[in-house]
Amino acid sequence: MVLTDTHTHLYSEAFDEDRKEMMSRAMQAGVKRFFVPAIDSTYTQAMLDLEAAYPENVFLMTGLHPTHVKENYKEELEHVERMLSQHTFYAIGEIGIDLYWDKTFFKQQQEAFRQQIRLAKKNKLPIVIHCRESFDEIFEILEEEKDEVLRGIFHCFTGTLEQANKALDYNMKLGIGGVVTFKNGKIDQFLNQIDLRHIVLETDAPYLSPVPYRGKRNESAYLKLVLEKLATLYGVSQKHIANITTDNSKEVFGI
Ligand SMILES: [Zn+2]
Repeated sequence: MVLTDTHTHLYSEAFDEDRKEMMSRAMQAGVKRFFVPAIDSTYTQAMLDLEAAYPENVFLMTGLHPTHVKENYKEELEHVERMLSQHTFYAIGEIGIDLYWDKTFFKQQQEAFRQQIRLAKKNKLPIVIHCRESFDEIFEILEEEKDEVLRGIFHCFTGTLEQANKALDYNMKLGIGGVVTFKNGKIDQFLNQIDLRHIVLETDAPYLSPVPYRGKRNESAYLKLVLEKLATLYGVSQKHIANITTDNSKEVFGI
């Protein structure tokens, strides 16, 4: 059984003390494929080091996270383009719009999202979307940019069934993580109405730990708890969920 964590910030400072042990706990839990989203240029070197340490298991993305879109966002986007020309990446992410933390740079967030979608299309790469209190704003841009090559993942999907179906219409998969185990997480109430071929697993480590670790540091080994929950919700074996979600991740990332 091979589990794929499609969204894990392995380079986070939260793992500086025990990164090696954290990685082996994950591998022992069956997590063998780690897709690592970017935040901004300050993390690029740490990401490259991680890939060099685990070349068979770690797959990098490049991109500018919406909460890191600031005055210097144009330089950051140039960095993303430069990285793309120098190195292999498997997605543009995480990108999107976040209106929860700060609305100051809303216009710039829209612009950065749009530019990075175009970059993804040009390079035939999937996008990994970060959406927080911004479904309408994200869908508006996807509607304008959609075409036959645009595909990707709605990371940490927390919307309604209607929003889920809309995301699928844009050729997106739903990234499901710890929130599905939360009592008030809501997505557990309708998720089994979404065909498993649209679902990928993720932790978003070190954030959003599943129950019973909610509120504590998350790590990729806890993907197991998400897997268990999905097996219960869909009434199928864990092995079945592991296989189909890993296949889905291969379809999206092309590896
Ligand atoms: Zn993330």
